[in-house]
Amino acid sequence: MPSSPIRPRRAGFPQLAALLLLSLSALSLGACKPGAEGSPAPATEARNTPVTATADRDEHSYAQPDKVVTEDLALDLALDFDARTIAGTATYTLQWKDDTATELVLDTRDLAIDKVEGEADGQWQPLQFALAPADPTLGSKLTIETPQRNTRVRVTYTTSPDASGLQWLTPEMTEGGQLPFMFSQSQQIHARSWVPLQDTPAIRYTYTAHVTSRPDVMVLMSADNDPDAARDGDYTFSMPQPIPSYLMAIAAGDLVFKPISGRAGVWAEPATIDRAVAEFEDTEKMIETTEALYGPYRWERYDLLILPPSFPYGGMENPRLSFITPTVIVGDKSLVSLIAHELAHSWSGNLVTFSSAKHGWLNEGFTSYVENRIVESLYGKEFSDMEYVIARNALADGIAAMPEATQALAVRPGTELDADDALSAVSYDKGAWFLQFLEQRFGREVFDAFLRDYFDHFAFQSITTEQFLDYARANLFDKHPDTVTDAEIQEWVYGPGIPAYAPQVLSRNFGIVDSARLAWLGSPQLPPRQITDAWSTQEWLHFLDSLPPTLTHAQMAQLDAAYGFTGTDNGEIAMRWYPLAVRSGYTEANDALAAFTERVGRRKLIMPIYTALVQTEPGLALAKEIFARARPGYHPITTASVEKLIAEAKPAPAPAPAADATTETSEAPSP
Ligand SMILES: [Zn+2]
Repeated sequence: MPSSPIRPRRAGFPQLAALLLLSLSALSLGACKPGAEGSPAPATEARNTPVTATADRDEHSYAQPDKVVTEDLALDLALDFDARTIAGTATYTLQWKDDTATELVLDTRDLAIDKVEGEADGQWQPLQFALAPADPTLGSKLTIETPQRNTRVRVTYTTSPDASGLQWLTPEMTEGGQLPFMFSQSQQIHARSWVPLQDTPAIRYTYTAHVTSRPDVMVLMSADNDPDAARDGDYTFSMPQPIPSYLMAIAAGDLVFKPISGRAGVWAEPATIDRAVAEFEDTEKMIETTEALYGPYRWERYDLLILPPSFPYGGMENPRLSFITPTVIVGDKSLVSLIAHELAHSWSGNLVTFSSAKHGWLNEGFTSYVENRIVESLYGKEFSDMEYVIARNALADGIAAMPEATQALAVRPGTELDADDALSAVSYDKGAWFLQFLEQRFGREVFDAFLRDYFDHFAFQSITTEQFLDYARANLFDKHPDTVTDAEIQEWVYGPGIPAYAPQVLSRNFGIVDSARLAWLGSPQLPPRQITDAWSTQEWLHFLDSLPPTLTHAQMAQLDAAYGFTGTDNGEIAMRWYPLAVRSGYTEANDALAAFTERVGRRKLIMPIYTALVQTEPGLALAKEIFARARPGYHPITTASVEKLIAEAKPAPAPAPAADATTETSEAPSP
């Protein structure tokens, strides 16, 4: 669920472009950064060994889907803002797959389990259970003895105030400052910290919920939120379409609603709602565009929930109610491709879902591809091309530093994945690149129809990479023989790096940016104002992305004086400028850097800044200072990431090293 920024098309400026002696060679390629040529790794045995096994086990869950699966979950919960807990019952309707099974195994993390009951002959009776000691990654396995294989089982529980999937904000940490706020982030394996459940995407279920809270906050879930619901502290929800556990979501706060269309709207704090509605007014058009390409939107309403800046991700595709960072509300719609991304998940991810994080690209690669198609359709090809180039340059930077095993789209069984970082830039951007490769080989008409049928065929199912490939073989590859080879498919899906024959994207606008940058680096002459005044966010991002790892103090000061990067409201610019300032020893940016990093908790935007800081002793000291102040307002997921980075820092005593210290932090999940 990452954002890649876009902005509606503006008029061109050919005369000015001509001034820059633009040549074809100056046009930007998808992987044009030095050393980032998506260099195909040498062919290895492993990379071309076909993988056909369909056996798949989710290593991030204790659930046993071959024995029993949850068909429906009924929650009855009470939110307690003072205690920072959720307490109540979860009732599972089970389908037993194995006649010899006598246990129900659930995932939990930091939950207090009060009792477990099973329904037999209309009566609830206690069941024996055991809560195992916590595994640091997976949490505590809850084993329930079910000798009668009960159809319904009920667990009474309370969450911890430190639940990893919940953030509780005091009124002072909200925009309005009057009421407290809480929200969940369940992906990848945090749902288990607020509901005991079979926490694997391999299992889908419907859910209902009755939630009580203090009467002055509005409660919303990833379900049928009623725009006209009374704010009274007593709420009911229903999610009639079966979803995987990572799409469980809840939020509560001073939330008001405004419509965008008959089926789409925005929930936000009163102080934010009008800006959000204006920024995201194209949402209905995005839904219609996606429906025209890939079939009907199947979730009825599509609403956006604007969260506080501490939300650790750009967006989270909770069904019917995408959770959105406020950092993309910048006043000019330049970052609304995030909405295209979260909406696209309504087809890729929420409708057709990966069966485990090892197949992350089935969610994020497809979604990044669909996002780009929505952006192209609404804002033009030049903009969607710029988005691809920005993403692929970042991918080229990131992939080289990754172990080969995790450079594959489909991660082989047994490969260790960090649950919170399982969805890397490979899942998103190499995944989208593979689909663009297929689109180019088969042609849009054929490939669009294929994808539409794919979403239909696997609707409301969770699948593996191999299931996708089997389907593609039967419905695309074999129907158009000699269009792609088996070896090419194997290389894309199971090989490291980016294949040498991957399609390249050209951006004309970025060619102009490249010429301007080269001219400035060669002489201290900044490009003419008429040119830079017309640049969108995307052009500025490319300008910053393509600069050398460090600049002189005079160069930094010149750029800052001309373009005012220090103190920018645009997080995408901030996450590039501040690390450059740190590496270049441009300490004039420190105060604004600290203020930004304290205010924003979105990992993608702040981890590159922390990463740059911890390279030196003085930087590390500043990072610790910022973190100490920011920590009470950070989400547990962000706190864990920053803590780890600081703990593992090996700072050089001297000033900033000249070596390239850029690190793109993927903000998976999606987020
Ligand atoms: Zn996503």
